Amino acid sequence: MGSADVVYASSLKDLQNQSGIAADLVDEVTTFNANAELSLTDEFGRVLGPGDVIEGPEWLAARLRPGLAKNFGGVWTDMQAHVLDEYGQVIPGLYAAGEVAGMIPGGGSGTGFSGSSSACYYGGRLAGANAAADATAE
Ligand SMILES: Cc1cc2nc3c(=O)[nH]c(=O)nc-3n(C[C@H](O)[C@H](O)[C@H](O)COP(=O)(O)OP(=O)(O)OC[C@H]3O[C@@H](n4cnc5c(N)ncnc54)[C@H](O)[C@@H]3O)c2cc1C
Repeated sequence: MGSADVVYASSLKDLQNQSGIAADLVDEVTTFNANAELSLTDEFGRVLGPGDVIEGPEWLAARLRPGLAKNFGGVWTDMQAHVLDEYGQVIPGLYAAGEVAGMIPGGGSGTGFSGSSSACYYGGRLAGANAAADATAE
């Protein structure tokens, strides 16, 4: 059972050997559990309690990687979802909406707006409708 990113073992020592984790897992978990039993804080300042004690018999290590969930930025647009150039001028025929445009038409991220799918839907409908109107007007 397991994969390159997930390792199962029946002891902490085996988990350390199989996963390649550099830290001394037995020492780390022993210290963590002692702090938890006494309701002390861990090295990150989190308040622990007896319910936090980590126990076997099975042990699991999973490799985690950072990922980008939101960009809080993107191209500038006006309220019609036109993309603006560096001088704030409309780039004809270019529209953007959603995450790539700061989520809300008019530069939501720049105003502190943190984003939601409803703003993306709204901007997408606006950009699509305006792009279609452009196309049929030509
Ligand atoms: C973990 C998480 C939790 C969230 N929770 C909430 C929430 O509770 N409520 C809420 O309102 N919002 C939430 N959001 C935000 C919301 O999901 C996003 O803001 C929204 O989905 C963005 O929509 P979008 O269409 O702009 O981008 P996306 O949904 O990222 O769509 C972009 C699409 O473009 C495709 N694509 C990328 N490159 C190319 C290419 N070169 N060619 C063709 N296709 C391409 C991608 O595959 C993708 O399908 C959350 C986001 C995350 C990550």
